[in-house]
Amino acid sequence: MTHSIVVIPGDGIGPEVTLATKRILAAAGAPVEWIECQAGLAALAQGRDVLPQETIDEIERYGVALKGPCTTPVGEGFISVNVQLRRRLTLYAAVRPVRNLAGVPTRFDNVDLIIVRENTEGLYSGVENQVTDDVVMSMKVATQTACMRIAHWAFRFATRRRRKRITVFHKANIMKMTDGLFLRSARRVHAHDYPNIDYQELIIDAGCMKLVQDPSQFDVLLLENLYGDVVSDLCAGLVGGLGVVPGANYGERGAVFEAVHGSAPDIAGKGVANPLALLMSAVMMLNHLADERDDPVCNQVAERIKGAYNQALEEGRSTRDLGGPLGTEEFATAVIERLRG
Ligand code: ATP
Repeated sequence: MTHSIVVIPGDGIGPEVTLATKRILAAAGAPVEWIECQAGLAALAQGRDVLPQETIDEIERYGVALKGPCTTPVGEGFISVNVQLRRRLTLYAAVRPVRNLAGVPTRFDNVDLIIVRENTEGLYSGVENQVTDDVVMSMKVATQTACMRIAHWAFRFATRRRRKRITVFHKANIMKMTDGLFLRSARRVHAHDYPNIDYQELIIDAGCMKLVQDPSQFDVLLLENLYGDVVSDLCAGLVGGLGVVPGANYGERGAVFEAVHGSAPDIAGKGVANPLALLMSAVMMLNHLADERDDPVCNQVAERIKGAYNQALEEGRSTRDLGGPLGTEEFATAVIERLRG
């Protein structure tokens, strides 16, 4: 069985980390063929939309995509590629596992938490108004449909992964209607359907303090859109930075796997970017294929890749952001040399 997967190299460091990731997957024998599509500046350079309809159509057609970071030009008239993609494909659940890696020393050990972020509304609604010459306004949107949908998704996911507890970060004491709805939805789903999972609520400021005091006390975090964005980067900082946190966006019409980091223009084209976050996203993609398409080979390949990058990191063969000596391609080679079986 060969799986056709849409790949979007993206902008900035995107093409470099995508190439390295594809090289490792090929060496590991991943049963995938790539359908290359464009988005971001790369699409604009070809005279197309920042997110071409063809790219959306291909993701819908094949159901799974691996995506590099895309830059949205600053200024009026461009809606973020990521926001558009998530909205147009209704990729409503973003999942970011945050774990310590062997060979990457950080302040805390035993960090093993998963962020589940609502991906379609909140302050990302894009509804902004000029009210008067003096006043502009940004609308935070919450719908019962989306709040219930993400709550169901998170509890189902936690149950399948044998996780013990879900913590919701919120600010319902101030945003009584929007965060209130988010909170009530999570409470309802927990009370009705998931007594197997412990449920906790924390006001987000207190939650952030607890996160940086001892992140190992958290298991699954359930967050609305903007909180999920901010807390994802905070959590990346706890385990070694943006170079080591993968992500997946799930919806009813497809799944898109991408690193949490952006296009990092400061290091683009220098061959120093860490491809690990995208590689780990590709491992999540292989596990998704194994589950959804009942293909155990994908699972085996995912495990081999994990074993290889863990070994490389333990031996100090890492990129510079992690204190190692390697560039992007050298790290990919180090992983390939450690593939077994
Ligand atoms: P965006 O707004 O698109 O999310 P951002 O402004 O948050 O982007 P990123 O591009 O995510 O910024 O990265 C922030 C900084 O972290 C980069 O400038 C870069 O120095 C570092 N960084 C991010 N990703 C990597 C990586 N894969 N390897 C090495 N360093 C990285």
